[in-house]
Amino acid sequence: MSTRVPLLAGNWKMYGTAPEAAALVGDLLALIGDVPDRDILIAPPFTALTSIAERIAGSRLLLAAQNLHWETQGAFTGEISASMLVAAGCTHVIVGHSERRQLFGDTDATVARKTRAALQGRLTPIVCVGETLAEREAGTTMDVVRRQLTIALADLSPDSVAATIIAYEPVWAIGTGRVATPEQAQEVHSEIRALISALAGPAVAAGVRILYGGSVKPDNVDALLRQPDLDGALVGGASLKATDFARIVRFTS
Ligand code: PEP
Repeated sequence: MSTRVPLLAGNWKMYGTAPEAAALVGDLLALIGDVPDRDILIAPPFTALTSIAERIAGSRLLLAAQNLHWETQGAFTGEISASMLVAAGCTHVIVGHSERRQLFGDTDATVARKTRAALQGRLTPIVCVGETLAEREAGTTMDVVRRQLTIALADLSPDSVAATIIAYEPVWAIGTGRVATPEQAQEVHSEIRALISALAGPAVAAGVRILYGGSVKPDNVDALLRQPDLDGALVGGASLKATDFARIVRFTS
C-alpha cells in the first residue's frame, strides 16, 4: 500500500481577475477546506497570488504559480523569480507545462533550469512531461517522456528529486476532453517511476508523487486514481468550477 498522499492540483491558467479568483477560492474553501488525507493545491494567475495567499492562510489549500524564470533577478522584462513567488505566498510552481513548451518556447533545457531554480528557491516544482498525439501514434511516448524527465532532473541530488513532483500530461489529452485510459496512464506512470528509481534510487522513486493531467473530470477521476502509480491529478478546465474540482478532490478509489 502506497504511503504517498494524493495531490489534487488545479491549474487556473489565464482565467480570472483577482476578484474572480477570490470568489472561486471562497467557494473552494467552503466545499473542500476540511477534506483530510489529501493535499489540495491551486495555481491561479500571478495577479491573484498575494490576495489568495492571505485568503487561504491556515487552510489546507496550497498555493502554486504557473511558471517562473531561472534567474534570481535581472533585466528580464515580464518574468518572475522564485523568491518573488515565495514572497507572494507560493510553496509550489508548475514547470514545463505543455502550453509553455508549445506556445512560449520552453525547452527541455529551460525546463531543467527552472526546475533547479525552483528547488534552490525553496519551491516544490511540479515538472510536466508528456507526448503529442503524433509522438504517441509513432510509438515514441516513452522515448519522449524519458528524454524530458532525464534532462529536467539531470544532476539533481536524490534529495532534490525526492522534493520534486512529476505530472504526466499527454498533450493530446489537455483541454481536449480526450482522456488517457487508466491503463494508458498507469503504463507511463510506472515507467516514470522506474526511471526515477534508476536516476535517484528505489526509495526516492517509491516516495515521489506522479500526477496525471489531461481532461480529468468528476466522472473519470475515480477510475484514473485507482491505478497504483497515479498519485493525484493536475486539473485544468474542471478546476475552474468549484463543484467539479471539489468532486475531483473527493475522489474515491
Ligand atoms: C492542464 O492544464 O494541465 C490540464 C490538464 O488541462 P485540462 O484538465 O483542461 O485538460
